[in-house]
Order: sequence, then C-alpha cells, then structure tokens
Amino acid sequence: MQQALTFADVQSVKHLAKKLKQAHPELPHGKRLNLAAAELLGVRNYHELNRRFQAVIDQYLDSPSGPNAVAHCLYCDFRFAADLKGDQREHRENHERIMEVHEITGYRPGTYVEREAMKTDGYTKARSPGSLEDRIDGALLILRGWFDRSYHRAIDAGQWRKHPSFETYVALMVPYIEGIFPELAPSLAQRYGRTPGVIAHGQTNWPLQ
Ligand SMILES: [Zn+2]
Repeated sequence: MQQALTFADVQSVKHLAKKLKQAHPELPHGKRLNLAAAELLGVRNYHELNRRFQAVIDQYLDSPSGPNAVAHCLYCDFRFAADLKGDQREHRENHERIMEVHEITGYRPGTYVEREAMKTDGYTKARSPGSLEDRIDGALLILRGWFDRSYHRAIDAGQWRKHPSFETYVALMVPYIEGIFPELAPSLAQRYGRTPGVIAHGQTNWPLQ
C-alpha cells in the first residue's frame, strides 16, 4: 500500500465487508472487515487499516503539550481535548466529513486562520490604489474567505451538495459588495451576475435549507 489512505478506501472496505456476508454467513462482521481490508488494500486486517487511517488524519494535528492542552486540526479546523476519547471520536467524524467532500469535489474550504489571511490580504488589495483588476482580485479573495466559512457550515449541516458554487455565491453577495466597494461591484455583477434577496444584507452565510 504505497498511496495515502483515503476516506473512499475505508468506505469501500466497509462496503465489501457487507457484501461478503453472502459468501461467508458464518463469519462475524469483524472477520469480514479483516477479509475485505486484506483483499482490497493488502493490509493484514481491519485494525491495521484503521490505525493507518487514523495516522493520515492525525498528521494535521497541532498538539501543544501540557495539562488541559487543546489539540487543533489544521485540516478540518476542529479543536478538542486530545486525551478524551469522546473528543477524539468527534474530531474523526468532523474530519471525515471534510475529507469526503474534499475527495469528491477536489475542494477543501479554508480553516479560520486561512480565511482570515484571505480576508486581510483581500482588503489590502481591494483598497489599494492599484489597477481595477488587482482590486477586483482583492474583493474576490474576501469573497473566497466568506464563501469558505459558509461552505464549511453547510458541510457540518450535511447540506454541502446544495450549497451554491463560488461563482453563484459571488452573485448572491454583489448587493452587499455594492455597499462596501461600490466602484468594484459593477464589474463583479457583469462577470458573475447579481442575485439579491437570498443572503440577507450584512450576512455572508448561505441560508441552510
Ligand atoms: Zn481534522
């Protein structure tokens, strides 16, 4: 097994284990998971698969030492007490949700720190005396920061498939952009459209359905 394990790999092992029930009705579920893991991924058993998958997830953890330390995942942005089993499980569920979307769409929404960096950068560029094109790039960075928070929220709520694309989202936000960057809004409206009334004025999150 050379490549890093994916969420889809683990799902396909679970799927095969269920199918193996017909051929091996005498085996308990755990044994069928072992067979499926060995057959699909060449690992010794499901426990080994699980351990390796946990390592894939844990590689993103920023874990300061000391009592009551709070671990922070730089991939899914979850913060938790690393020594609590319940917290670990919650992190894994959260992480897998982001991973699944990332594998299906090729897109992972930025974490809080990444989003703040986009917005800071975006405001600097959008307010600069540079060319209109550079300033629009700045506005798009701000919009990307807002979009990522909105998208992350939709993933948490299990509604990411319904969340608008970035292009559609920009059109939803043009009425708000008109208030803060009136000189940039017409160009954005021309390229992405203008859709008022979906996101309330002053809000940046797509309303969950
Ligand atoms: Zn995570």
